[in-house]
This record gives sequence, structure tokens and C-alpha cells, in this order.
Amino acid sequence: NSDQYLQISITLFGKGDRLMLVQDVTRLHNLEKMRQDFVANASHELRTPLTVISGYLETLGDHLDQLPRPWVRPVQQMGKQAKRMENLIADLLTLSRLETSQIEYAAEPVDMDHLLRQILHDAEALGTDKGQTITLEAEPGLCLHGREQELHSALSNLVMNAVKYTPDEGQIQIRWRRQGEGAVFEVQDNGIGIDPIHIPRLTERFYRADPSRTSESGGTGLGLAIVKHVLLRHEATLQIESQLGKGSLFRAKFPASLLVSLEQEA
Ligand code: ADP
Repeated sequence: NSDQYLQISITLFGKGDRLMLVQDVTRLHNLEKMRQDFVANASHELRTPLTVISGYLETLGDHLDQLPRPWVRPVQQMGKQAKRMENLIADLLTLSRLETSQIEYAAEPVDMDHLLRQILHDAEALGTDKGQTITLEAEPGLCLHGREQELHSALSNLVMNAVKYTPDEGQIQIRWRRQGEGAVFEVQDNGIGIDPIHIPRLTERFYRADPSRTSESGGTGLGLAIVKHVLLRHEATLQIESQLGKGSLFRAKFPASLLVSLEQEA
């Protein structure tokens, strides 16, 4: 029956004895599908009115000098919060596209040198204001077969988090290199760090290690959930190492099957 979903698990015990468990998970699967559809539809419907509100607030923001004084701060705050909501909705839509595996564009060789330089450039725009030093070491010509837009969004999320959660004058290192048969992307910072008890749950939607400190960072709480889904779609794994008060290391490992060298392409 094509509308039925079964989960089969096999446990080995004793001398080659096996226990096979077949569970009907159709209801669970349908509920999950309903949740995904609801989030996707709600986000989609919210986007248009919000774009209008945000647009008007931006226009008002451009003419602050003509507003009565008591209005200035409320208009600025509303503009800021509307932008935040726009980011949240954009992230929710990205996440639901990734979750439902809607493939919008095919995988192709991605020039990682170029992609990482773009990410570095955007990170520097934020980080330099905080007096941070951001370095990039990328193995030349090491390309990935993947979806550029998705990879950009995932890797940039990791780098922007390092910038957000590292205090002024901190150091952030971005690395991309071969490792074993595959390749690794790493972002290391000497920022606020994460208590190890939170690490297993960090990629859950809206999970925050320290809500009081992180909500003021302006993030949506969906960044690492997006990272997880993009990496999953690229058969890559995410490792997180961190020490509270010392800093964090986020490492994405890509399999050999996705590597392409520029010479191979030429
Ligand atoms: P947010 O929008 O809150 O940054 P993310 O999903 O990107 O959401 O990250 C989830 C949480 O993981 C953050 O709220 C923060 O507590 C923690 N985190 C992520 N990256 C770092 C980092 N480099 N250093 C310290 N904490 C981090």
C-alpha cells in the first residue's frame, strides 16, 4: 500500500538470533507532513503583508527628521523588529524547502575558493566593526559537487554565528582542506563557547544554548537547523566541539564522492 509507512528494525542477539520489529508509522508520518505543510503555508502567507509593513517602515525611517520626536524611537524599533520577522520567515521557508527535499536546482561543481571568499567578505563587514580578526585558509582548487546556494547558506550561517558569539577583538579561523579521502570545512572561534550539555540539541529548531544572551544577537534560532539539513543533503556530517568561555569549533565533513578538482573539470 503506497500510503502506508512501515519502520523496520532488526536487533541481533545471542548466537545469530534476530528480532525483527515492524511498526506502522503512517500516522506519525502524516502528522509530520501536516506540520511541515502548516509551517510552509503560514510562512508563505505571512510574507506578503510583512513585506508591505516593512517597506512602509523603511520609508518612514528614511524621513526620521520629519517625524514628531516621540515617534522616532518607536518607528526605529518597529523597523528593526519587522526585519527580524522577515529573516525568521525567510529561514522558516528555507527550512521547509529543505525538509520536504524540494530540489530547486541541480547539483553542480561549486568553486569553494570563490564561495568562501564571498562568505569571508560578508563576515568581515560585521566582524571588523567588532575589531575581530577573521582568517581563511582554503586549499586551492578543492571543489565540491553540490548546490551552491544551499552550501552558501549553511557555511555562512556557521561563520556568522562565530562572529555573533565572539566578543570584540576575538579571532575566527575558517579552514577548508582535504582530510583522508574527503574534505573538511571548519570554523573556529575564541568566543563565548557552549556548555557541552547543549551540544546534542543545538541543531533543533529554535534551540538556544543561552536564551538570554542569544536572543539579543538578533538570530532566528533556525541557523543550525538549516545547516543540519543542508549537510544531510550533501551526505556530510557536523561535529561541534566547544568549551564554555573558551570558544567553539564547528566542523563539516564531506565525503570523497562529492569532491571535484578543477583540473578534472577543465
Ligand atoms: P541563533 O539564531 O540563535 O544563532 P542557531 O541555530 O544559529 O540560532 O544557533 C543555535 C544556538 O547555538 C545559538 O542560539 C547559540 O546559543 C549557539 N551557538 C551557535 N554557534 C555558536 C558559536 N559559534 N559560539 C557559541 N554559541 C553558538
